[in-house]
Amino acid sequence: MRSLTVGVLALQGDVSEHIEATKSAGTLLKIPITVISVRIAGDLETLDALIIPGGESTTLQKLCEREGMFQKMKKVKNIFGTCAGAILLAKEVLHKTSDQKTLALMNIEVDRNAYGRQNESFERVIETEFGQMNAVFIRAPKIRTVGKKLKVLARNGTEIVACEERDGGRYYLATCFHPEYTSGAFHKYFLEQTLREVVG
Ligand code: GLN
Repeated sequence: MRSLTVGVLALQGDVSEHIEATKSAGTLLKIPITVISVRIAGDLETLDALIIPGGESTTLQKLCEREGMFQKMKKVKNIFGTCAGAILLAKEVLHKTSDQKTLALMNIEVDRNAYGRQNESFERVIETEFGQMNAVFIRAPKIRTVGKKLKVLARNGTEIVACEERDGGRYYLATCFHPEYTSGAFHKYFLEQTLREVVG
């Protein structure tokens, strides 16, 4: 079987948790997988998939721009963004800073910091496509609207907190929470979708 190369953007945020969750998902799926920490633009070139961890979206944007990564990130065909990573994927952002930019790849509108301040962060059981799951929300965004072709994968009550978009050979997955802390299900699903796109 062809091996998958998955990069985890390693400029900010909970990088090691994502690396571990991705490796465990690869083991569960019994697929050969190489996980690399992405720190410079050149690291993006050989990737089948990229994971963008949480952190702070404007800081992440600036660090990516400083490294000359923005355009190369847009070319990666399979991307999973959590929290700030989801903001980076969104085409529309509410409450962004005046100079905030995103990769603008996913047809979602996210509302930055919509759950309140850092000390209003919380952990809650949510309903997902993969069953109930404990989810950690850290100064998380809300996904206010999704494009017609997108599929919702998780809700917190009535609010959309995870969704996916397939767009002509490209696959994007966004979560408002941090699955890397509590569950391997989203990483496993992301690898399965990447495999589907890469191998067919
Ligand atoms: N509030 C952060 C932002 O605007 C996201 C928080 C997170 O990634 N945990 O980027």
